[in-house]
Amino acid sequence: MQPIELFFPFLNKPFKAVITAHQKPDGDAMGSTLALYHFLTQLGHEVTVISPTNWADFLNWMPGVDKVIDFEANREKSVQIVNTADYIFCLDFNILHRTKHLEPVIQQSSAVKILIDHHQQPDTPSFGYGVSDVKMSSTCEMIYDFIVQSGHSNLINLDIATCLYTGLMTDTGSFRFPSTTASVHKIVAHLKELGLQHSIIHENIYDQGSEARLKFMGNAFLHRMQVFPQYHTAIMSIPKTDIYKFDLKTGDTEGLVNYLLSIQGIKFAAIVIDREEERKWSFRSKGVFDVNIFARTHFEGGGHANAAGGRSSKSVEETTQDFISILENYKP
Ligand code: 5GP
Ligand code: MN
Repeated sequence: MQPIELFFPFLNKPFKAVITAHQKPDGDAMGSTLALYHFLTQLGHEVTVISPTNWADFLNWMPGVDKVIDFEANREKSVQIVNTADYIFCLDFNILHRTKHLEPVIQQSSAVKILIDHHQQPDTPSFGYGVSDVKMSSTCEMIYDFIVQSGHSNLINLDIATCLYTGLMTDTGSFRFPSTTASVHKIVAHLKELGLQHSIIHENIYDQGSEARLKFMGNAFLHRMQVFPQYHTAIMSIPKTDIYKFDLKTGDTEGLVNYLLSIQGIKFAAIVIDREEERKWSFRSKGVFDVNIFARTHFEGGGHANAAGGRSSKSVEETTQDFISILENYKP
C-alpha cells in the first residue's frame, strides 16, 4: 500500500469511483463515505456510494444518504458500477471481508483500492494506496485530513461538515473517549465556523428510537445481563425471541453494550446478539484491557483496543458459556 499523499495528484483527473464501508455501516462509516462523496463530486468525479448491507434508520436524515445503494438489495446494479470503477475507496474497515458479500465483487475488480481507516492490523497488501492510523478517533477525522492535506479545505461545505461531525461524535462517544484529541476539537471548531448545527445531529442520531426499543432495553437489563464483579466484567446475551418480541430493527442494539461500562468497577463489557446468520459479539473496555486482541483470539473478530466485535457460529447459550470460561483466564 502506497502512502495516500501519492494519490493526491489523481484527484485532478476525472474518474469513476465507488466508495464503500463495513457492513451495517455506523455513524462513522456512513459519515465518512458521504463526506468523501460530497467532496469528490465537487471535484467533478463520478461517484457512487455502495453499502454492503442495509443500515440503521437513525442515519436516514444524512445529506446524500438517499443516493446510497444497498448492495444486498441491488446486487446486479452494484456489480455493474463496481466493474466500471477506476477506484474503490474503502473506508472504516481494515480487511475486505468486513464488506460481507460485497467482498468477492471488490476482489475481482481491476479498480485501484484505496484504504482510509483507523482499525488495528489492516490488511495493507489488498490496497494500492491508503492511510491506516489507529490513533485517529474516527475515519471522519481522516477524511477531514484527506481533504485538507490534498489542498481542498475550501470545499468543506455544510453537508460535508454535517457528515464529518456525525462520525466524530459517534466514534468518540460524544467526545468522551481517550481518542478525543485536541485535533478533534479543532476540527469541530472549524466545522462550527462553517455553520454546523451540532444539537440537531445529536437528536437525529440518539433521539429517534421507538418505544419498543426502550422496553427491550429495560427487559435486557433486568433479564439478560450477568455481572462478574470479580472479573470487572458485565455481559448481556440477547436471544432471537427478544428481537422478534420487541420488533427490533437494524441499529436498535447499537450502543447498548456501553451501558454495561457505567456500572462502577466494570472495565470489560460484552454483548452477544442472536442474529439470523451468526451470533454477533460486541466488546468494550476501559483502560488497558485490549478487546481487539480478545476478539481476534476467541471470536474471529477485531477492531480497536477499547471497542471491537466478533462472531460465533454456536448457539447464543453456548457462545455465552464459552465467553464465561475464557474470562477466567483473563481476569480483566
Ligand atoms: P461494534 O461492536 O460497534 O459492532 O464494533 C466495534 C468496533 O469493532 C467497530 O470499530 C467495528 O468496525 C469493529 N468490528 C466489529 N466487528 C468486527 C469484526 O468482526 N472484525 C473486525 N476486524 N472489526 C470489527
Ligand atoms: Mn470508525
